[in-house]
Amino acid sequence: MQFRDLQAQYKRYQKEIDAALQRVLASSRFIGGKEVAQLEAELAAYVGVEHCISCANGTEAMTLVLMAWGIGSGDAVFLPDFTFFSTGEVVAFRGATPVFVDVDPVTFNLDPSELERAILKTIHEGHLTPRVVIPVDLFGLPANYPRIMAIAEKYDLLVLADAAQGMGGHIDGRRAGSFGHAATTSFFPAKPLGCYGDGGAIFTGDDGLAELLKSLKVHGKGENKYDNIRIGVNSRLDALQAAILRVKLKAFIAHELEDVNRVYRLYNEKLAGVVETPVIPAGYYSSFAQYTIKLKDRAERDRLQAELKEKGIPSAIYYIKPMHRQGAFAHLDYNDQDFKVTNELCDRVLSLPMHPYLREEDVERVAGALRTLI
Ligand SMILES: *Cc1c(COP(=O)(O)O)cnc(C)c1O
Repeated sequence: MQFRDLQAQYKRYQKEIDAALQRVLASSRFIGGKEVAQLEAELAAYVGVEHCISCANGTEAMTLVLMAWGIGSGDAVFLPDFTFFSTGEVVAFRGATPVFVDVDPVTFNLDPSELERAILKTIHEGHLTPRVVIPVDLFGLPANYPRIMAIAEKYDLLVLADAAQGMGGHIDGRRAGSFGHAATTSFFPAKPLGCYGDGGAIFTGDDGLAELLKSLKVHGKGENKYDNIRIGVNSRLDALQAAILRVKLKAFIAHELEDVNRVYRLYNEKLAGVVETPVIPAGYYSSFAQYTIKLKDRAERDRLQAELKEKGIPSAIYYIKPMHRQGAFAHLDYNDQDFKVTNELCDRVLSLPMHPYLREEDVERVAGALRTLI
């Protein structure tokens, strides 16, 4: 059994993917061109925003937005303590200060009340200027954008939605990628919508921001690549990855999203009363980048993971260390007591095999193993 079975997906779409690759090889247009432009148009239409700007990966996508907004030294950027390192890394990389915020114990996403508390504390201390919030759609579930947007408006903050894991999720029909002033995603192979290498994209309805991003990602270009009006970076999605993604986006929309939600419902039924299973709030839809259960404590979690492994069942711990305890942020002196929920989640979470090609008998094998081992 695979944790995320990319092989099964390739086998099912081999003809279409191979044909897409051949199309690019025959054209010899490896950078930019029709495939990239069409993918961007298809993604923008799917997400429901005006602009999609592809780039090298999800980390760079966030960096580009922070660059465009002029975020740097002296600025405070608020983000969840329970996320992948990248979300905080980009903030420090721009010279700004990441302010970690504890998360909701049920959704694992940024806790809006804690966000407001952190903003007020930062204002009160007076050293940093609150500028940006980066909510994360953790494990595929959109963050609580209705409340976060209201808080951001109250304190005049920009919102950058980190939808690296969130593509395909929605709140009352409004899709991940369309929330905030800008949103970013990653096409790393294991993400809900992944390519066969690295890739990323930025979504925004802001015309001015879109123009600036298109310049920044191509060496700060003006009229063309050899007319450079600002310092930028080189960040692009290549045509082969775009062609692969166009096939995968169709499959994603046609059945993969519904398939992971079917797996989620099966797991939840079979694990009811055995472990704490994921809860999707009313009106929310998750793309299930991960299916994550909660065990009693770290000892039980670590024991179960080892015993599942012995039975040939892979699992993973996202995340084992909160952001505020990462060595790279040690100089920022966070108070461990401010992150009670995240600290506990890092001890208790375990992600089980999850992907659209997981069969009912696989789900039963995992759930059955857990029922006997608990
Ligand atoms: C994967 C991920 C990223 C980074 O994406 P890359 O394409 O690997 O750079 C950022 N944030 C979150 C929450 C992620 O899961």
